[in-house]
Amino acid sequence: MKKILLIVMDGLGDRPNPELGGRTALEAAYRPSLNYLAAHGINGFMFPVKEGIRSGSDTSHLSILGYNTFSVYTGRGPFEAMGLGMDVMPGDIAFRANFAYVNDDGIVEDRRAGRISDSTEELCKAISVEIDGVQFTVKNGVEHRAALVMHGEGLSDRISDSDPHVIGRAPEMIKALDPEAGFTAEVLNKYLEMTRKVLNSHGYNRSRRNSGNLPANELLLRGAGKAPVLENFQQKYRLKAACVVGIPLISGICKLAGIEVVKYKGSTGTVKTDYSGKIAAALKALETRDFVLVNIKAPDIAGHDGNALLKRDVIQESDRAFSQIIPRLDGLVVAITGDHSTPCSIKEHSGDPVPIVVAGNAMRTDGITRFDETSAVSGTLRLKSTDLMDVLMSASDRSEKYGA
Ligand SMILES: [Zn+2]
Repeated sequence: MKKILLIVMDGLGDRPNPELGGRTALEAAYRPSLNYLAAHGINGFMFPVKEGIRSGSDTSHLSILGYNTFSVYTGRGPFEAMGLGMDVMPGDIAFRANFAYVNDDGIVEDRRAGRISDSTEELCKAISVEIDGVQFTVKNGVEHRAALVMHGEGLSDRISDSDPHVIGRAPEMIKALDPEAGFTAEVLNKYLEMTRKVLNSHGYNRSRRNSGNLPANELLLRGAGKAPVLENFQQKYRLKAACVVGIPLISGICKLAGIEVVKYKGSTGTVKTDYSGKIAAALKALETRDFVLVNIKAPDIAGHDGNALLKRDVIQESDRAFSQIIPRLDGLVVAITGDHSTPCSIKEHSGDPVPIVVAGNAMRTDGITRFDETSAVSGTLRLKSTDLMDVLMSASDRSEKYGA
């Protein structure tokens, strides 16, 4: 049996860029390591989740880890909270939240409380409390954005939003959409009543008023979701598994799946990631584990910025880090792919499939010697990301025989 190293280059897939002479960022990158792996394995396309789906990083990573997102994905709330680095446990309820301004008549005048340029961290701390055995934790995001997590017994996500979604109306009372959600709605309304008092009298908002800014005196909640209970990844595949990832959204998903999150030194989750430190940490983790997942976020960031040259450059830097893998291929199956495409030309995720290589020593090859979107067309593989784990289990001689 071989060990498995799965490297997900976030937002890897691209479309032709005029500034790169009509090539994709991957095609334009100097990538000897990726090309070496392409020549020592099988290549092709992977559809994130399934054909025609324009997935987020949360749904695509869940499916890459073998989960059926259509049954386990519970909405953006819990995943956005994880993305802010919050601990979200199975059964917790999480919301996306906005700090908003409500006038003296109780009407939402600004859903973003003006432009909040300074951190709302102290406001979030002031309204992180326990009520009736339920722990409410709020964490600030960028500007007016935040997330709320409810942790306690018997909570339900079958509740309405408090966010009226338009200005000129009062925040809504939270309503139970199912009889069993009664307690959740009741304790939330009690909580929101409390937050209004705390926010209105908080020093942070006094100084906002004094400087002519709108106070952030209302927390608008939307998109309630219950953190999914995932089948344990290590038990499902009988793999001792770890991940080396920089962004809280993906480490949060790994924690829910029961995959150990390896700490390592060096910056991560940005275009200034310590790529070689990350790959070194993954190879070290593999010494005592069967499976390691790595996420490299930078190509997605460059794609969202519409910066094709930067996307090419971060792929080149990643490739240099991948050179460490090549002398370690004995007893190893390496898969490199993306979680979805983030074409620089549209600055958003697209439904375009992503190139994939599954390589190792003494593996079948398919005549492909380059790793990119165009070469992938002639490769062997055509798969949905949900099937990737099965492909890797088979390539590493770990899958169980189907039939006699
Ligand atoms: Zn993205």
